[in-house]
Amino acid sequence: MAKHIFVTGGVTSSLGKGIISASLAKLLQERGLNVTIQKFDPYINVDPGTLNPYEHGECYVTEDGAETDLDLGHYERFLNKHTSQANNVTTGRIYQTVINKERSGDYLGKTVQVIPHITDEIKRRARLLEASDNYDIIITEIGGTAGDIESLPYLEALRQLRQEMGSTNLICLHLTLIPYLRAAKELKTKPTQHSVKELLQTGIQPDILVCRTEHPITDEIRAKISRFCNVNKNSVIEAIDAETIYDVPLLMLKEKLDVIVLRKLKLKVGEEPEMKAWKKFLGRLKNPTNVVNVGLIGKYNELQDAYKSIYEAFVHAGAHNECKVNVTPIHSQDLEDDRFIQKIENLDGVLIAPGFGERGIEGKINAIKYVRENKIPFFGICLGLQCAVVEFSRNVLKLKNAQSEEVNENAKHKVVHFMPDQLQIEQKGGTMRLGAFDCKLKKNSISAKAYGSLDISERHRHRYEINNEYVADLRKAGLIPVGINPENKLVEIMELKGHPHFVGVQFHPELKSTVENPHPLFMAFVDACLQYRKGNR
Ligand code: GLN
Repeated sequence: MAKHIFVTGGVTSSLGKGIISASLAKLLQERGLNVTIQKFDPYINVDPGTLNPYEHGECYVTEDGAETDLDLGHYERFLNKHTSQANNVTTGRIYQTVINKERSGDYLGKTVQVIPHITDEIKRRARLLEASDNYDIIITEIGGTAGDIESLPYLEALRQLRQEMGSTNLICLHLTLIPYLRAAKELKTKPTQHSVKELLQTGIQPDILVCRTEHPITDEIRAKISRFCNVNKNSVIEAIDAETIYDVPLLMLKEKLDVIVLRKLKLKVGEEPEMKAWKKFLGRLKNPTNVVNVGLIGKYNELQDAYKSIYEAFVHAGAHNECKVNVTPIHSQDLEDDRFIQKIENLDGVLIAPGFGERGIEGKINAIKYVRENKIPFFGICLGLQCAVVEFSRNVLKLKNAQSEEVNENAKHKVVHFMPDQLQIEQKGGTMRLGAFDCKLKKNSISAKAYGSLDISERHRHRYEINNEYVADLRKAGLIPVGINPENKLVEIMELKGHPHFVGVQFHPELKSTVENPHPLFMAFVDACLQYRKGNR
């Protein structure tokens, strides 16, 4: 039977519950256990697919086409294992299930209530993955902070589950903050005491406290936290600010978080994991022999989380190439006047980000024209490919006013248009072309060489697609479709003949990049940027 670890957060949000969960999972995985992580989000949206990235960061897409929280990206990047729809549950989804059951008469005669109906559904979801893959351990991260009104049903469900399963089958890890008061030169434990009290009010005594801190926590502080919070001193774990998120598994190893967890769950401890591959990756990441400067042109740049997976894919690919990749976010709207060249001319490569809507499109198109003509490495993702096709149609095919249907549905040349099966769809949630689809590559293309294979599968999230009516003309003029979906013939990848590296993809390669498997297209792009830099400076 799978054992459970629940991870809650206290004091503030953004303490890195996702990274702590992923790091713990990694250590347990390295010890030979089969581990997965799921995220419970207390908001009422059924999934984050309809949320603006400013609200919630990137929307991460799984193989099976679920639009999920970005923490699932961390889980996959650390564990090198796919997650699925079942790994992300929201309050919206819980209520939707309960309300659907009520409508179909499942509770006939009964008043439907938060306790027991909503909490039962949370408990059912919490254990759903037990049946799927013989997991030894399931880690459940509960979004939000202890004390939030909207987290209460989750904490109540957790209390009940712990009662039902017993304390050696389910443990609670609470991530909390130990703030440092500069004026007093002191670390303060009071907020942690309060947040544990908050949990106690819901009937949950945490087994382990992981303490985020800017400075090392002394033995004395550990003893104090232990005394006030009723947690063993060796279960008070320091989580000091790290240089990179990829340091955290090793920091947790040093703190013996994995050993403490295994002992509490009455599982065999065994040898300490060597973490060989992980350490090798970190060694390369921290000792680069080269550097490249890449521009990330998008419209949500104020928030790094909006392009989380892209940034991380550059970290993986950079480490692999022993090359530091400096990513400069550039606002596409800032590229809409004549001075745009100054912002991109010194870059070693340009990535045009995915996105939705009209804002900033012309800036992206300006940048693409410049890098196309000046042979600067280009990588377009989803909307990035679509903009490349619009630019090429306007400036090379001379189709004046060529446009994407997303921007102008009345344009004469809709070189990017609604996919036929999207036309009838009215509902916005979960209705894009989502998840993994196959793609056949053209021999000798940059992409085929990067993948080392002609058959690939990548994840998607879009409504619009390259209009096949224009593909013959695009190809004749040099913009070649080198990746095609074998079933419906949709264009998945285009490359520009005669350009050292001009690759646009309709899918999201960044979602499949992991520490152990950096994405081939990111590695090839970083390499192209390096070559460009060497040739030019
Ligand atoms: N807005 C575009 C579409 O829906 C691109 C989507 C994306 O970049 N993910 O097709």
